[in-house]
Order: sequence, then structure tokens, then C-alpha cells
Amino acid sequence: MEIAHRIHLIGGGKNGMQLTHELDCNVYAIHCGASCVLVDAGAGVAPERIVSRLEADGIPPERVSHLLLTHIHADHAGGAAYLRDRFGWSVVASAEAAPWLASGDTDKSSVRQAMAAGLYPADYRYAPCPVDIRVADGDTLAVGELRFRVLETPGHARGHVCYLLEEDGVKSLFAGDALFAGGKIYLQHTWDCHIQDHAASIARLHALRIDRLFAGHGPFLLEDAWQHAAKAHRAFERLDLPPNL
Ligand SMILES: [Zn+2]
Repeated sequence: MEIAHRIHLIGGGKNGMQLTHELDCNVYAIHCGASCVLVDAGAGVAPERIVSRLEADGIPPERVSHLLLTHIHADHAGGAAYLRDRFGWSVVASAEAAPWLASGDTDKSSVRQAMAAGLYPADYRYAPCPVDIRVADGDTLAVGELRFRVLETPGHARGHVCYLLEEDGVKSLFAGDALFAGGKIYLQHTWDCHIQDHAASIARLHALRIDRLFAGHGPFLLEDAWQHAAKAHRAFERLDLPPNL
């Protein structure tokens, strides 16, 4: 589904638009000229549905060059191995989280805990996936005509990054689980969820004055997304917590 110039919503589960498997996060495709990139991969339970959505939107999977992962939670990165194996996409993830995905670490990714909590089916398998490009804060990833700026945004999880795309003065943030519409965040009882880090990440995102927000769950925002960052930021400034997803 084309949702903005260059940008398609390709996947999303029960916390999104139910386009693909219910466990999938929002998956976005971005036209970069001759090639495309995907942001996040979904959970990998039914990754062929992501592929079908791409094809339905007129994007042959062979045209995709990179898969940009915001973080390695299973609903975002579980499908990466399938997509990399089948199509040879270059997987991009933070240098911090890359080894955890490469080894399929179910502790660092909190998959084991999430399965014990019943968030994933008992037979769920978190597929290890090699990371081709490891990124860190301030890096720029150039793909075709576009440049994505990497912003380390821990808080929801360690090794979480957002990707900022700026074109014609319009700032689009692919935020993963760092910020959602309504100024929501996503605190979880996991080893690497950290309130102080989250407040600092939100302060950074607030300072960017983003126009558009493409979050990992829920609605996307096409204008004035900075107001939503400001709402979360104000809550932290009051020593309060923003609403949780
Ligand atoms: Zn997450």
C-alpha cells in the first residue's frame, strides 16, 4: 500500500493494519531510485506474505537491496533470515545488536522471555541471521538517491536504532519501537528496557522536529509528527512516563 511518495506499507499485524501475519511489526518499503529498501522484516512466521505484499505493490523482491532493522526483537527481525536467504538482501543492524541476531540469541533478544509470557507460540523459532552491514550512531547509509541517517535510540531495547530520511526539507523517521503515534512509547519488562535511556532518546527525537513518523506498530503520521514526539518528551520532562503502547 503506497502511503507517501516513495513509501509503501508492506506488512503489519494485530498492532497494525493486519496486512500480514498477526505477529508482524509494520514493515515499510522505500523506493531509492533503481533499488528499494525494507525497514524491518516481521516475525518470520509467514514471511511469504511480506513477499506477496511487495509484489502486489509492484515491487519485485529482486529490486530490494537492503533490509534495515531497527532492533532485533522477534516481531521486527524474525523474518530477516528467510528474506536474506531467499533474495540476498543486505541486512543492516546496529553493531551492538548484530551479534545477537547472528547467533539467534534468545536471551539478548528477549525471545525466550516473550515466549514464556505467551507472546509467541510455543513452536516459534527465532532464526539466526548474519548481519551484512553494522551501523552506529551518526552513520549514513546511502542507497540509490537516498541517504538514511542512523540514530541510536536505546530505551525500548539495547541496540535499537532509528533511520532518518530527509528529502526536500521533509524529515521522515523510521522509528521502530522508539516512538509511536499519540506520543506513546513501549516499555516492557525485559532486561534491556531502560527508562532513562528512553527519555534521552525521546529528547533527541524531539529535537529533530520530524515531519513524518513511520513507527513499528500502529498508525503512521504524514504531517506534524514532531507534536507526537513533543508529547512524549513533555511527559518525561515532568518525570512522568508517556503512555505505553
Ligand atoms: Zn521491540
